[in-house]
Amino acid sequence: MRRNRNAKIVATLGPASSSREVITALFEAGVDIFRLNFSHGLHEDHAKRLDIIRELERRTGRPIGVMADLQGPKLRVGTFQDGPVELKAGASFRLDLKKTPGDATRANLPHKEIFAALEPKTHLLLDDGKIRLQVVRCGKDFADTKVIAGGRLSDRKGVNVPGVVLPLSPLTEKDRKDMRFALDIGVDWIALSFVQRPADIAEARRLIQGRAAVLIKLEKPAAIDCLDELIELADVVMVARGDLGVEMPPEDVPSVQKRIVRACRQTGKPVIVATQMLESMISAPAPTRAEASDVATAVYDGADAVMLSAETAAGQYPLEAVAIMSRIVSRVERDPFYREVMDLEHANPEATSADAISAAARQVAQTISAASVVTYTTSGSTTLRAARERPNVPILGLTSDMNTARRLVVAWGVHSVHTADVRNFGEMVAKACTIAVQEGFAKKGDRLVITAGVPFGTPGATNTLRIAWVD
Ligand code: PGA
Ligand code: MN
Repeated sequence: MRRNRNAKIVATLGPASSSREVITALFEAGVDIFRLNFSHGLHEDHAKRLDIIRELERRTGRPIGVMADLQGPKLRVGTFQDGPVELKAGASFRLDLKKTPGDATRANLPHKEIFAALEPKTHLLLDDGKIRLQVVRCGKDFADTKVIAGGRLSDRKGVNVPGVVLPLSPLTEKDRKDMRFALDIGVDWIALSFVQRPADIAEARRLIQGRAAVLIKLEKPAAIDCLDELIELADVVMVARGDLGVEMPPEDVPSVQKRIVRACRQTGKPVIVATQMLESMISAPAPTRAEASDVATAVYDGADAVMLSAETAAGQYPLEAVAIMSRIVSRVERDPFYREVMDLEHANPEATSADAISAAARQVAQTISAASVVTYTTSGSTTLRAARERPNVPILGLTSDMNTARRLVVAWGVHSVHTADVRNFGEMVAKACTIAVQEGFAKKGDRLVITAGVPFGTPGATNTLRIAWVD
């Protein structure tokens, strides 16, 4: 079973998408990676979903990626005594550490680290930015604020402090528990929310110990200030536009999105564009034109994947959302202008033999109209470098490591295949041809461009390019 597109689709699972039937249908409609959102649901819910996915994987023989998304230090106000309160512009409002339920004059904010980082004039955004407060006075356990933009505030709404680097680890106690659980059930990526500094990634890596790849969610302005360093340290990057768009003005989000996607394409790190892509489909069977355009923009930018959140987790039309997303991606990729853009924004090879071979493979494939580029990989790096080239033919990623096979699913244009090891060069060429035919990527008489590192099994040592005829 092959997909006819380069950009991949990530779908979040939730109450609307937890049965075997729906998960199977989502996969058939085009989902490549499933996201388990640890901000919601019980461990046993996530474990059940993962079981269904792994069984589906065995049944279809297709590697499927699974991401565990940790909630991270999402700040929230406490609860209110008599239900939601109305904050009026100009009024005073106090935030403090007192556990007593709040009212129209104060609320609990159970995070002492925030009070330590606040200064007069700092802005606090509540409930996805709908309410804005400005700090007037603050101490180590309180902040007196003035309401700049008012609204209704209810229990446990989110709080953002844009522009302030909070002295918070991106891993809370809950995250550590969730992460241990996710690693035990066997997910492919751990997604870190609200990453701010390189040290945040180092800490997570120490705990993960290679049992999953590390995905960072860029949703803090502070992270954008050290973008290149963070991308260098991550395996996969997500443009998390939901929180990012609260922490910075909405007009800044499109340029930041483009900047992140470009930086990731330069480095060859897969990048996912996320949040509100088809938001209106939570309750409507078709997207708005603007949403279709938003998905298309990410694809024209050359993102590796686009993501659905509430659309598939809690919406009324999860299957329709995936189906239309898949159609938009395919449609853009058929546009001759798309190819032009991919070529124009082509990343130059770095001075390594792996990049020299990958760049050559792309050129050779184009020159001889090869049916596809076939890469042999252990760690996945050979295949990722081939994807970084954004060739005009599909990339087959062959690996004997199931974890690598799953992690490669997120990469642009890669059709990942789990297969037994090869012993020598002749076997490798024969196998490439057989699999390319089996998987629907070549037929008799076609040519393939094959890249590998010889001797086999040396990670990152791509040094060989071979043209093979399929017979
Ligand atoms: P979330 O992350 O859905 O976990 O908040 C994505 C985002 O903020 O865009
Ligand atoms: Mn977020």
